[in-house]
Amino acid sequence: MDKVDIRSFTYEKLCGLMADMGEKRYRADQVFEWLHKRKETSFDNMTNLPKKLRDEICAAYDIYTVSPVKILSSGLDGTRKYLHMLKDGNVIETVLLRYDYGNSVCISSQVGCRMGCRFCASTIDGLERNLTAGEMAGQIYSVEADINERVGHVVVMGSGEPLDNYDSFTDFIDIITDGRGAGIGGRNITVSTCGIAPNIRRLADRGYAITLALSLHAADDDLRRQIMPIANSYSLKEVTDACRYYFDTTGRRITLEYSLIEGVNDRMEDISGLIRIAKELGGHVNLIPVNPIDERDYRSTGAKAVSAIKNKLEKNRINVTIRREMGRDIQGACGQLRRGFIRENVSGETDA
Ligand code: SAH
Repeated sequence: MDKVDIRSFTYEKLCGLMADMGEKRYRADQVFEWLHKRKETSFDNMTNLPKKLRDEICAAYDIYTVSPVKILSSGLDGTRKYLHMLKDGNVIETVLLRYDYGNSVCISSQVGCRMGCRFCASTIDGLERNLTAGEMAGQIYSVEADINERVGHVVVMGSGEPLDNYDSFTDFIDIITDGRGAGIGGRNITVSTCGIAPNIRRLADRGYAITLALSLHAADDDLRRQIMPIANSYSLKEVTDACRYYFDTTGRRITLEYSLIEGVNDRMEDISGLIRIAKELGGHVNLIPVNPIDERDYRSTGAKAVSAIKNKLEKNRINVTIRREMGRDIQGACGQLRRGFIRENVSGETDA
């Protein structure tokens, strides 16, 4: 990857680049609009730029491609799962979810992940590399091109840990919320993190209106360390204090994600702990029956027990939802589509 990905430049950075090239500021507006409003992927088509400038840009910059190589479409609810190939041959997953309020895209933030959460398929082979801001935005634009409709909601909940790729992630937010480009409202964006406390605080200070979702999954440090290695670096107190700071600074309510694993984190004392933390933070709880992955023998809490947990939270006046399983017919836990593809194409094995 020698040339730099120009789609990763925020408007401010693009202004700096054009100034360095001896160009007027309005050229930055033009380039930004081509990349992020018209979602153009070829410099040749940017016809209002002089040929000389296009050639100069072309010599040093590139638009890193995000191309669908496999699309699975659900006959049940219109969910579409994309396997996207990147410029260097790596593949990542993106998911389109159709809601009554519009189209929502779930994007990946890294190729693989190094966080090591025990129940998650994305982390099994570790981190391959960070995505650029442009590759994050490119996933949204690719889906838009496929369905020929606008995407108004984004969740950064695919493979990878966005706050472990902090600078590219914040550039990505600057880019897609910019009214000169895609103009996606901050309130329509959710970012999910396993809890990198210092970066939660840094994010709070940026003044975005985006929703923060914390992958809690355990309400005491010992258990959390067993299922989420990141808990060895940041205690629950450090993480929940950072979330409190996020809420106090931004006024945005925190979402607590809690993936229910039978016999591991669904006992009475676990749920009491979850209630305590949700009350302290004034957070909304999203219960996710764990999606079993081939490589581990974790099982999901049964549907009846999940409902009982929901009722218990509601009795405590906590706002709670059970994550609706979408695209059931094309499902595989996060990261499994990619793993299957790599198995088939690289090692010659096929999925059972
Ligand atoms: N790195 C981010 C985004 C991860 S994916 C984070 O940790 O939040 C989004 C959510 O799905 C996280 O809460 C993650 O813990 C959860 N998750 C991952 N694999 C899962 C599985 N097999 N079953 C249920 N939830 C899972």
